[in-house]
Amino acid sequence: MARSTFTFALAGNPNSGKTTLFNALTGSAQKVGNWPGVTIEKKIGRYKHDSLDIRIVDLPGTYSLSPYSLEERITRQFLLDEKPDVVIQVLDVTNLERSLFLTTQLIELGQPVVLALNVYDEFERSGARVHVDKLVSILGTPAIPTVAVKGEGLDKLIAEGIAVAQGNEREAHPVNVDYGRDIETRIQSIIDEHGLRDLLSSEFAARWVAIKLLENDEEIAKRIATDRSTSLPPEVILDAGKARDELRGQFHDDVESIITQRRYGFISSAFQQVYEPPATQFDSFTDKIDSLLTHRLLGLPIFLLILWTVFQLTFTVGATPMDWIDAGVGMISDGVSAILGDTFWRDIIVEGAINGVGFVIVFLPNIVILFFCIAFLEHSGYMARAAFMMDRVMRVIGLHGKAFIPLMMGFGCNVPAVMAARTLDSERDRLLTSLINPLMSCSARLPVYVLLAGTFFAAKWAGTVIFSMYALGIFLAIAMGFLFSKTILRGQAAPFVMELPPYRMPTMRDLLINTWDRSKIFVKKMGGVILIGSLVVWVLTNFPRNVEYTQDYDARIAAAESELATVADAPDGEQAQALQSRIADLQTAQSAEQMSQSYLAKIGNAMTPIFAPMGFDWQTNVAILTGFVAKEIVVSTYGVIYQVGTDIDESSGDLRSRLKSSTLTPLRSLALMAFILIYTPCLGTLAAIRRETGSWKWTAFSVAYSLVLAWVVAVAIMQIGHLIGAA
Ligand code: GDP
Ligand code: MG
Repeated sequence: MARSTFTFALAGNPNSGKTTLFNALTGSAQKVGNWPGVTIEKKIGRYKHDSLDIRIVDLPGTYSLSPYSLEERITRQFLLDEKPDVVIQVLDVTNLERSLFLTTQLIELGQPVVLALNVYDEFERSGARVHVDKLVSILGTPAIPTVAVKGEGLDKLIAEGIAVAQGNEREAHPVNVDYGRDIETRIQSIIDEHGLRDLLSSEFAARWVAIKLLENDEEIAKRIATDRSTSLPPEVILDAGKARDELRGQFHDDVESIITQRRYGFISSAFQQVYEPPATQFDSFTDKIDSLLTHRLLGLPIFLLILWTVFQLTFTVGATPMDWIDAGVGMISDGVSAILGDTFWRDIIVEGAINGVGFVIVFLPNIVILFFCIAFLEHSGYMARAAFMMDRVMRVIGLHGKAFIPLMMGFGCNVPAVMAARTLDSERDRLLTSLINPLMSCSARLPVYVLLAGTFFAAKWAGTVIFSMYALGIFLAIAMGFLFSKTILRGQAAPFVMELPPYRMPTMRDLLINTWDRSKIFVKKMGGVILIGSLVVWVLTNFPRNVEYTQDYDARIAAAESELATVADAPDGEQAQALQSRIADLQTAQSAEQMSQSYLAKIGNAMTPIFAPMGFDWQTNVAILTGFVAKEIVVSTYGVIYQVGTDIDESSGDLRSRLKSSTLTPLRSLALMAFILIYTPCLGTLAAIRRETGSWKWTAFSVAYSLVLAWVVAVAIMQIGHLIGAA
């Protein structure tokens, strides 16, 4: 008769270790981050325990169950609608007092609660103590010390959860916060007069509903008014409103704040009873590091230095594996050429598909290294500091430091970054953050920089050039944010206190999961949009085919070939060699002629007036055009146009030498990099902006302003360059 399937929900403050615990229990590999706000959506996994099947749900991090932020609403709705058998609150004991705020609210909700006193290792190391038995008896809920990163205490936690779910837990008689006579009598009368206890026997706790109505929680009122299954009389809302007015008259304060104060009172007294501070208070490890890394003056320069180091590493360490992949691509391309022979299919597969995708895939190491560094900065706790320091800068543009988190995520990919703006509280903040997010240079732009910087700048400068593109992006994001917040999106950021997690040495496993999680988007794009883009570009470069102006070449090549046949008895002779090189020249000229008449060249040439100040050739114009779909396609387009296919062994070297002999110069390449950084967000990002803002108008605005800005910046780079005499 005992049930064998249960649902356990993991709730808790951000950064308390919920996802780590979830991963440890379910063996899944969700992204963990040492920074608040990583898990916005709930994740579901399974855990088998003997014959029991337990569904585990990782909820977004919240500090309370009020309905103000998206995380709070998701969590609350889940708890109310799905009524998990047990709510496991994962709390970071090093922040025990603050965590208890949520605990009291969860208990009040009337669902069985089990506490996981997580990060117990760090807590013990700090020298502090917590009297667990006493905590259990005060709250009336089981509490188990855990160390989620090492899997310690998890068996016990689950066993406790099962005992609670099966109703075998003797100790569980959760305590309620006492809100004082005035409030308590009103809670009681709301419950009694409307028979809430009976009506809600299967619903959430009567007391909780009464409190929420007193607090004027509109969402709950709406539920009661519209949801028939609760069968609550609508008068209850009116009665609660009356009681609320009386209380306000009496306390000269609204009920919600009085209830919050009382809750804090209860928590503080509970905390005093169970917590024993360390005998001596040392400056913690974290404090010491922070005094340098978040220093008022040195903090930002150090941040920039760290970023610079990251891009330097990305470029230099990436070079070696890049050669290996390059060689691999070369072998594949030779193999395919050998099998297919001199056919149309060889041309389209080798010159189109393999060239296009191959040129992008060689940048995978750079991207993996970048993501690894970002994961390290996040997990160590440094990224939260960067956001904290940027708070000062962000205030200038009327956003708070919290908005910097989605911006930092933009270094990876703008799509999830735009989605992460959801965590911001006001519509205006979300919109502003989404609009400037595409200026944060995402990883798709990295291949373009690596290619161009590596071609037009000496190796020791390439890293700095790449870094300067990222810095330009950050600078422009701030500048545009400032402009928008003074014009179309006026407003002020609410004061916000950013929580700084302690510094931690990240585990290799977390870093690798995180790196892979982000890199795989890039890998997926190879087989999808980049492959298709390359094929389209190839077709457009190779058609129309064999048109009249190249037929003349056919005749001349044929003539040279037949002449060669007559001297074939002396193939090494001077005459034969001269003929052979003449044939080769003719073939090159023919394909150049062919390409210059192609559809793609026509498109590129038509764009020339737009880019006249930069003096880009049609190849570059076309690369810019195709990059609109996804920015890596800029590189694959070059790869296909310059058809470096026949001798792909030194492919990227070869592509580089061809780029060098094009009309691009170091100065033009800078203007081009800046243009590609800034101009219109890729299609994926636009779709995300459309989804998040719900508005075509803002999506179109995003395209328009970034195109104009890109053009202006590129022209400015050219002008400044000419002034200082650069080429
Ligand atoms: P969430 O926001 O609640 O999902 O928290 P995460 O699972 O993302 O973890 C936040 C950080 O705390 C990560 O850096 C984890 O490695 C770290 N962490 C989680 N549990 C423990 C623990 O028991 N001990 C220590 N020392 N660190 C932990
Ligand atoms: Mg999480």
